[in-house]
Amino acid sequence: MNPFSYIKEVNKSAADLYSLRSDYAKFSQAMHMMMQGIWNSDYIPLEQKWIPNRLKQMCAGKDGFSLKDYAYQLGAGCGISATEFPLHAPDCQGNSWSKLNIGPFEEVKWTESPDGMAQSVKAGSLFYGADDVGICQLDRRWVYSHWYDLETKAEYPIKFSDEKGYEEIKSPTKLEDGTKVLPKEMKYVIVLIHVMDYEEFRAGPTLPEVAVTKLAYSKISLTAISLAEFIRSLGYNAIPSSNCTALNIPLAIDAGLGQMGRNAKLIHPKFGPRVRLSKVITDLPITADKPVVFGVDTFCKSCKKCAIHCPAKAIPESEPSYEPKGDYNNKGVLQWYCNHDKCRSFWTANGTNCGLCITTCPYNKGDEWIHVLPKWTAAKFPSLVPFIVWMDDLFGYGKVKNYS
Ligand code: SF4
Ligand code: SF4
Repeated sequence: MNPFSYIKEVNKSAADLYSLRSDYAKFSQAMHMMMQGIWNSDYIPLEQKWIPNRLKQMCAGKDGFSLKDYAYQLGAGCGISATEFPLHAPDCQGNSWSKLNIGPFEEVKWTESPDGMAQSVKAGSLFYGADDVGICQLDRRWVYSHWYDLETKAEYPIKFSDEKGYEEIKSPTKLEDGTKVLPKEMKYVIVLIHVMDYEEFRAGPTLPEVAVTKLAYSKISLTAISLAEFIRSLGYNAIPSSNCTALNIPLAIDAGLGQMGRNAKLIHPKFGPRVRLSKVITDLPITADKPVVFGVDTFCKSCKKCAIHCPAKAIPESEPSYEPKGDYNNKGVLQWYCNHDKCRSFWTANGTNCGLCITTCPYNKGDEWIHVLPKWTAAKFPSLVPFIVWMDDLFGYGKVKNYS
């Protein structure tokens, strides 16, 4: 290990690092805030006002809401529509759980050592467009208990083939009653990172920032589909997924791609929270990475910039706790819980998403030495964190308009 590195591998899983309580129960996708906007009468009005409010901002001629900005974000989302990759629905069109191309070698399996497989899969992930990649063993606690069907507006269980009644299942399958079953051998996850452009993201919460988010999802669509098809063509099962099937952040932590911040986002050691996540779940035997720590917990305890600058006051300034803010939070994890009622209300009023909790974060920088030095210092000398945060403010990073 590089003695000058501020990133340390640890023999602890995400469940250990965030002190998972014994009463933790798997989360249902139906309770995710985006899904509740579809079925919960408290949130449906918010969803319905979102786009009309965007048009109001455009008609009012607000900065970042011109017709050109609107067109810019529509263009950025074309990768999602062109690949027909649903972000929230599993096994549907572009993110199909089945092989897309039928080839002449259907019965043949590629064999290689797990280390060699990891190297090939990581190289493939970067080739298909990911900015970083990590591998973990699938901790089933992070798999949704149920998936939410956008067509029937109902939830259905997700099971594994070593659960009673599903032993015959050999490939990812949807049963007639809506249950989705994964073979028990699907115990590896390749977690993909896509970075969002620094300057464009700082334009938020406006339409250019929406464009950066959509562009990341467009890239995710192509990368996840390509990687899954690569693996399936080697003779293994692979499920490409953006926000469906399992929770991304704990899987990314298990895959050594970062720690969780006060803003309830993954903090990547190089890109900070300015990333979008996706994954491919597979039975390809592959060597997993180890989780890493680099002082984020201590940094967040003194920093609070995301909480202070959040226009909705949705991020707590207090200590991490087990107290969820609503049924949209995944209970039983020691963390800073985001108040999605407040966050989502701001998005609706503004007609955009937001991302100020990403923009203002001191980890949201490039990898030039001038930005690496504070991260290194914070990890090695935690008592200097308040000084680093003060310097960050002094240099004008994370400055935001007043949205209150
Ligand atoms: S996205 Fe915006 S409103 Fe939501 S928590 Fe982050 S800063 Fe607050
Ligand atoms: S802004 Fe500060 S408190 Fe918030 S996630 Fe980033 S480092 Fe942590």
